[in-house]
Amino acid sequence: MRIVVIGTGYVGLVSGVGLSHLGHDVVCVDNNATKIAMLRQGKVPIYEPGLQELLASNVEAGRLSFSTDLPSAVDGADVIFIAVGTPMKDDDGHADLSYVMAAVEEVAHALTGYAVIVTKSTVPVGTNRKIKQIIAQANPQAECDVASNPEFLRQGMAIDDFMRPDRIVVGVQTERAGNILDHMYSSLQLRNVPIITTDLESAELIKYASNAFLATKISFINEIAALCERVGADVEEVSKGMGLDERIGKKFLRAGPGYGGSCFPKDTRALANSGREHRAPQSIVETVIRVNDDVKQRMVEKLRMMCDGSFAGKIVTVFGVTFKPHTDDMRDASSLTIVPALLEGGAEVRVVDIIGRLQGEALLPGVVWHDDPYIAAHDADLVVVLTEWDEFYGLDLKKLARNMKSPHMADLHNIYSLRDAKCAGFEAYECVGQARLS
Ligand code: NAD
Repeated sequence: MRIVVIGTGYVGLVSGVGLSHLGHDVVCVDNNATKIAMLRQGKVPIYEPGLQELLASNVEAGRLSFSTDLPSAVDGADVIFIAVGTPMKDDDGHADLSYVMAAVEEVAHALTGYAVIVTKSTVPVGTNRKIKQIIAQANPQAECDVASNPEFLRQGMAIDDFMRPDRIVVGVQTERAGNILDHMYSSLQLRNVPIITTDLESAELIKYASNAFLATKISFINEIAALCERVGADVEEVSKGMGLDERIGKKFLRAGPGYGGSCFPKDTRALANSGREHRAPQSIVETVIRVNDDVKQRMVEKLRMMCDGSFAGKIVTVFGVTFKPHTDDMRDASSLTIVPALLEGGAEVRVVDIIGRLQGEALLPGVVWHDDPYIAAHDADLVVVLTEWDEFYGLDLKKLARNMKSPHMADLHNIYSLRDAKCAGFEAYECVGQARLS
């Protein structure tokens, strides 16, 4: 099949590369000429493990190309994916649909024959119906169907998630569109990936409800962690004990410094906003959002306490600033709340995150970047584990503690233990929802 993917960000590029790997002819289109020039040279503009190699092999096989010329790409395509960004527009949580609608207008004018226009971007319920109207107004002759095919990939595991998703959700209005998308994904169905075909609105809501549910699990365990700290319980044990119940499941029950990233913060807010607009309040989700904001502030206060009540004049070394490991993405990362609070309080902040530096340099002005964790911790008053990159699990804690002015550590992902910290010579060790050393 001939497929066009509009938008070569985390989702569009992975989807384009993945679909070409399934044997389709794919053109990835972006209006960012610099990105397309890089991609044409075989360079991937984002950090996503395995993507570079898969991209190269499919370009070599002649199934994958890159272009800024949307009309030429769309001419003769069977399926056109919209995978542009839908960031948060305002504090109410409205999704900014301007990129989606601009792409849709362009597609509408460029259509030369029947095609299915598929929204992969996360869009509020009702958007695909509007897209259909916009196409009809922009080009009354256009022969097309719209479909919703939300994406569930996790950054850092994106290729695996594209090739082996738990499910594929497709929302359609016509049998014709449903059949075409069924055929497009047939090789994944052969690998027993279930396809759920629904109406447009249900598909749109499956995406938001799924993300909001995962965010709920995180906020839930973070509140339990706060209680654990007060009563002397251990959140790691609580979460293990809960997660072994199959009705609950152990995933997304890890306490930490709050969720971040390009999806959960904006998608929970957009869902809460849809609830308000349609007079079906999403009060659980509203609370989840508030709890997540509170957790980040609670972490700042935890760090302040570890610095004797003030960051002024302290040297704080932060391990990791991306919103999670294995990605360069800094969107809505907890570090964007916590690091500025340290700086505003008068601390000298050193950061160790080789991948995070790619986006972090622009987003965290005033910090000093280091590659070596031991050098970064030299003479420091506090080390903070903010993103649990693999390299931090294997650190020599004795060497780290010896290097510091005052061996204090805030382990906000519970990657070490009180015992490890004590044995290594740390005088103060705080984690989340567990006993501390002080
Ligand atoms: P992104 O910001 O990384 O990429 C968007 C790309 O679209 C950019 O390269 C931009 O230049 C391009 N673009 C914008 N307007 C365009 C136009 N008119 N024509 C051509 N290109 C255009 O975004 P992303 O993280 O890939 O997210 C895309 C969508 O997928 C969002 O709705 C997001 O919520 C959703 N989503 C993201 C993830 C994730 O992990 N990042 C997971 C699931 C769903």
